[in-house]
Amino acid sequence: MRVLRRGEDGPAVAEVRSTLTALGLLPSSNGSGSLFDKAVEHAVRTFQQQRGLITDGVVGPATYRALRDATYQLGARPLAYLVSAPVSGDDVLTLQERLLELGYDAGRPNGVFGAQTEAALRNFQRDYGLKVDGICGPETLRALRQLSPRARGGSPVLLREQERVRKAGPRLRGKRIVIDPGHGGSDTGVTVGDVREADLVWDLARRLEGRMVATGMQALLSRGRDQCPTEADRASFANDVGADLYLSLHSDANPSPLAQGVASFHFGTAGGSTSTIGETLAGFIQRELAVRTGLRDCRAHPKTWDTLRLTRCPAVRVEIGYLTNPDDRRRLSDPAFRDVVAEGVLVAVKRLYLLGENDQPTGTFTFADVLRHELARVE
Ligand SMILES: [Zn+2]
Repeated sequence: MRVLRRGEDGPAVAEVRSTLTALGLLPSSNGSGSLFDKAVEHAVRTFQQQRGLITDGVVGPATYRALRDATYQLGARPLAYLVSAPVSGDDVLTLQERLLELGYDAGRPNGVFGAQTEAALRNFQRDYGLKVDGICGPETLRALRQLSPRARGGSPVLLREQERVRKAGPRLRGKRIVIDPGHGGSDTGVTVGDVREADLVWDLARRLEGRMVATGMQALLSRGRDQCPTEADRASFANDVGADLYLSLHSDANPSPLAQGVASFHFGTAGGSTSTIGETLAGFIQRELAVRTGLRDCRAHPKTWDTLRLTRCPAVRVEIGYLTNPDDRRRLSDPAFRDVVAEGVLVAVKRLYLLGENDQPTGTFTFADVLRHELARVE
C-alpha cells in the first residue's frame, strides 16, 4: 500500500478520516473530506499512541492494519477460522482475551483468528452445551458475555510459556534463537551522517551470533546483510524454524538530540495480556545493558508490534541507544562497546533459562562464566 502522510488527498485518506471519526478521534464535523490535514495527523498520532504503535503521524501498513482492525467490535460479524485468509480485528482480540479469562487456551491474544483460537472456542462450546461449530455467532456470544471469568491473571498460554522454559532446562546448548537485525538493504534505518542503524545492528547481531554459537545455541539471523524482509516475514521465519526465542535489535531516533538510552519491548496488550517470558527476558536484557553500558535506562514496555505479536515464541525488541544523540552514537560506533552489548544480551538469555537461580549481581556475569556453566558436568 501507499504510505499516507500530511498533505495527501484522495479516497484512501477519506477512508482513514471516516475510521478516525468512528473511533471518536476526529470531530464528526471533520469526518468528511479527503485531505490529510493537521487534524488528521494529530488524530493518527493519538491512535498510534493508544495502540502502542510507532507514533509518527503517518499511515503506513502497520497503522493501516490497526485502523482497520479497530473498526470491528465483538458481535459486529460472525467469527470463524478461515484457513486461507485468517480474520483479524479487535473483535478477535476481545474474543481471545475472553476465552483466556475463562481458562481456554486461545493462544497468544494477537487479534488473528487462527487454529488455536478455533480449538479453544470449540472446547468452550462443548463445555457449555452449545453447538460445536467453531464459529463465534450470536448464541456463543451470549454465553461468553454471561459467564464471569474463573480467574484473572493466570492464563494458560502464559503458564505454558513458563512451563516450556522450565522444562527446557538451564543450559543454552541446543536452544534455537532467531536474532533479528532491524532494517537492511535499501532501508538503512536511522541514519546520521555515515552512521547507519542497519549496519550497526547487523554487526551487533553477528557478534551476538558468534557468542551464542560458542555456547552451543543455534543462532539464526532473520535477514541477510543486504535484505529487508517485512516484519511479518521475519516473524514467520522464526515460527517456521521453531525458534525458542526471538530477539530484535534496533537503535532509536528522536527529533530532540537530548533523547538517549536503551529500552526493551515485549508482547503485551492494553487489556493487560502479556507474554510473561517475553517480559522477564526484556527485564533481564534491560538491566544487564543499563548496568554494563551506562546507557540511560528507559525500561521495558509492553507493545503489540507485528514482530512481537506474530511470533509464536517469546520475543523481545531492544532499542539500543539513540543515534540522534551524540553520546549514544559515539558509544555505538565503537566495536568494543558492541561487544559489551552482545555479552550483556547473552547473559540475559542465560539468566532467563536459569529462571533467576543465579544470584550473581547484574553486570558481573561474564561470557567466560556462561561458557564454564555450559561445559560443567550435569549433576
Ligand atoms: Zn529501527
